[in-house]
Amino acid sequence: MSGRQFPLKRTRNIGIMAHIDAGKTTLTERILFYTGRSHKIGESHEGTATMDWMEQEQERGITITSAATTCSWLDNRVNIIDTPGHVDFTVEVERSLRVLDSAVGVFCAKGGVEPQSETVWRQADKYQVPRMAFVNKMDIMGANFFNAVEMMKDRLGANAVPIQLPIGKEDDFTGIVDLIGMKAYIYKDDLGQEIVEEDIPADLQDQAEEYRLAMVEAIAETDEELMMKYLEGEELEIDELKAALRKATINVEIIPVMCGSAYKNKGVQKLLDAVIEYMPAPVDIPPIQGVLPDSEESDERPSSDEEPFSALAFKIMADPFVGKLAFFRVYSGTVNAGSYVLNSTKNKKERLGRILQMHANKREEIETVYSGDIAAAIGLKVTTTGDTLCDEKAPIILESMEFPEPVISVAIEPKTKASQEKMGIALAKLAEEDPTFRTFTDEETGQTIIEGMGELHLDIIVDRLLREFKVEANVGEPQVAYKESITKPVEVEGKFIRQSGGRGQYGHCKVKFEPIDVNSEDTYEFVNSVVGGSIPKEYVPA
Ligand code: GDP
Repeated sequence: MSGRQFPLKRTRNIGIMAHIDAGKTTLTERILFYTGRSHKIGESHEGTATMDWMEQEQERGITITSAATTCSWLDNRVNIIDTPGHVDFTVEVERSLRVLDSAVGVFCAKGGVEPQSETVWRQADKYQVPRMAFVNKMDIMGANFFNAVEMMKDRLGANAVPIQLPIGKEDDFTGIVDLIGMKAYIYKDDLGQEIVEEDIPADLQDQAEEYRLAMVEAIAETDEELMMKYLEGEELEIDELKAALRKATINVEIIPVMCGSAYKNKGVQKLLDAVIEYMPAPVDIPPIQGVLPDSEESDERPSSDEEPFSALAFKIMADPFVGKLAFFRVYSGTVNAGSYVLNSTKNKKERLGRILQMHANKREEIETVYSGDIAAAIGLKVTTTGDTLCDEKAPIILESMEFPEPVISVAIEPKTKASQEKMGIALAKLAEEDPTFRTFTDEETGQTIIEGMGELHLDIIVDRLLREFKVEANVGEPQVAYKESITKPVEVEGKFIRQSGGRGQYGHCKVKFEPIDVNSEDTYEFVNSVVGGSIPKEYVPA
């Protein structure tokens, strides 16, 4: 009955998470290139449906939007959910983590695990997101695959298991050894289209065997039957290994590690193959949990087209062409353009007007969105980030997203008095898009105050005011409790994180910081992420 293009089993919703500069944008561009949606390399910045299309993001070299791009590989649909890498936007990371089923962590072969990769990785740990790692930039000076793998184990506590080895490094990085099939793949052209399968080079043979053994052991450890076979000295078949690795990856017991150079077009197709091979389809992960409105009783929605419709809105964007775009992930059931749905979070009926799916170089208008898929709706009026959309006859509120309170505020005024009203409207629009950004008028001074997650966050808001709304604004000094690095005991009052039931809760409290007092890792990490990693090492809890 279903008119879906790809069966649910052949759907992958992945995020690409990385520290800034690790190569996430380049890798995403290459993925879009190889999946055939992008015309030529480097072009995916153009047009409207690109991964980071906001000008200032490109200028700053960061990605803050959390849109989704759809492509296909080996007869599978792959939705790439953008996952920002900057600490100011951890809330955006949180949003994207809610709707993706798995993620690829991109690491720089030289820098390995950077502090910011740790922050994002921990968030993914919290949600038990299955992951694989791509050690990028194997072509740069100082690239060291093995060092990056060790850092993943040490710093992230990840059971990082290489399933590939690089052939050469720096200028001599020429290809990849696949440890499962025990074959070498050598890249012969600049675009990475001509790949030759060869025997493993003689000088790599011993190393490859050593790493294969470690991989086989790691896989066997997650599967009793395989372990028995392994201990009895039986040869494990490739298909058995693959199946067990898939299970272990989905259960977050193993992080398969791969390598390549996005920039030099090496390793990207193999990474895509592995995404299909080892990453979960929506049916491979537990059903989404929710509560029934009014009764507060919990319920769940299995990933299936036959179930009642339920979806989570995870990103609202002001689009220059169509107005408000609401990205949503369908968990169960299907939904058609032009139909009415219930926003159960706000208890309001909403009309889903047109539905778009974003590809690398075009946006496609679609009629129906099936379970497990991601799309953007035009026409939703009251829906904001984190809201559940569902079938009116089978209402459910899906696990909601938690947003931290803003931690920094500045006074803002337009350069010309005449723009005051325009600025107010613009700020209200921006606040609608972004639940961690707020604006209000200070009663005592009459000043307009904006609040956000960090200086960069507010900088970007001011930038957008100018670019998108043509309002030039001056801002005052940031007012933030823990802005200065803590060198002497200070008492701060502000928004703070508390742990409750394994999830971060944010509240208002008064805290006294003393060098010896910062002894909770959660506290340290949160405060440090707020101040952009500027708390000195001696404050790191032992
Ligand atoms: P992002 O901040 O993670 O999105 O990183 P980008 O994709 O923007 O890459 C940051 C810089 O590293 C850019 O100048 C890229 O051209 C460069 N880069 C990305 N991948 C590679 C790679 O594999 N090798 C080399 N040499 N440079 C790369």
